[in-house]
Amino acid sequence: MRRFDGDKLVIASHNAGKIREIRALLEPFGVSVASAADYGLEEPAETEDTFAGNARIKAHFAAKGTGLPALSDDSGITVDALGGQPGVYTADWAETPNGRDFPMAMTKVWTMLEDRDAETPRTAAFNCTLCLAWPDGHDEIFEGKVTGQVVWPMRGAQGFGFDPIFLPDGESETFGEMDPKKKHEMSHRADAFAKLVAGCFA
Ligand code: IMP
Repeated sequence: MRRFDGDKLVIASHNAGKIREIRALLEPFGVSVASAADYGLEEPAETEDTFAGNARIKAHFAAKGTGLPALSDDSGITVDALGGQPGVYTADWAETPNGRDFPMAMTKVWTMLEDRDAETPRTAAFNCTLCLAWPDGHDEIFEGKVTGQVVWPMRGAQGFGFDPIFLPDGESETFGEMDPKKKHEMSHRADAFAKLVAGCFA
């Protein structure tokens, strides 16, 4: 596995919520961090049907565009009773002509679940795949996961995306209610990040 030994990293994302969380996770490593948006890079089309495939597209695009190592995050929520949907298409479910509407996307998930009988489990997982890519084309992939349940109504205004309807196993607060510090210790992103640190930063 290749170690990261530089002092500059690009976060290959335009998602403010992800950038905020990845910055916080990278803080202890003294790495100077900029985002793809800071470099004026566009968002490449996510044409793969796996988290790893799309994470690779984003990280390699940013590494080539900046000449720096780039870290991407492809993530989403998989709901068991919906056959793993929205999964890789989590962000797409929120798309509207006027931008992303997450309350609308969460309502869609809940409505589809409500249509099932009361015995249907509400179990779900957040998945996060990180890809660290270098300008020479090498990359390393790390996958993280946290399991829980979909709850309704939405709870909490912390975090981003689908956080208000995700209750992690063993917790009484949704990711939307939870102190961000606590989310950073237990989330799918924290899980993938710990593997990245062990593999490339330790
Ligand atoms: P993508 O990785 O850019 O395809 O988008 C992933 C989508 O999954 C985001 O837009 C969020 O809606 C959702 N998502 C990923 N991670 C989280 C999280 O930590 N909390 C809430 N929603 C998330």
